[in-house]
Amino acid sequence: MRVRIEREVCTGAGDCARSVADVFWMAEDGLATVKEEEAHFGTTTVFGEDGSAPGFTEWARVPVSLEEAVEAAAADCPGTCILIDRSEPEVPAEPVDEEPAATPPPRSSIPKRIAFRVRRLLGRA
Ligand code: SF4
Repeated sequence: MRVRIEREVCTGAGDCARSVADVFWMAEDGLATVKEEEAHFGTTTVFGEDGSAPGFTEWARVPVSLEEAVEAAAADCPGTCILIDRSEPEVPAEPVDEEPAATPPPRSSIPKRIAFRVRRLLGRA
């Protein structure tokens, strides 16, 4: 998912930045813009940070863990100016340290009790 703000119609109320601070940012001109936060992308990028580009059209990627919050912010935006693009492939929430799953030790398919009886019948127990 990606998100951007139609800054021409942003009221500057700041609801989005208060609710999803990792995605929305209030620029110096008092209007919201979008950002990609270091915690999710390794480095922070604020789009249109100086607020000098009315109608700024850059899109920020949204981490999977924040998609619902961004959708809620868009639904609650008084300017209805938070635009969402769901055509982008999912962005991982955080880098994941992949550790191989611990594998249990191999088990005999024959229960111990039965194996013991078989050995006893064969005279090996
Ligand atoms: S909630 Fe909407 S209108 Fe308010 S600052 Fe954010 S983008 Fe602008």
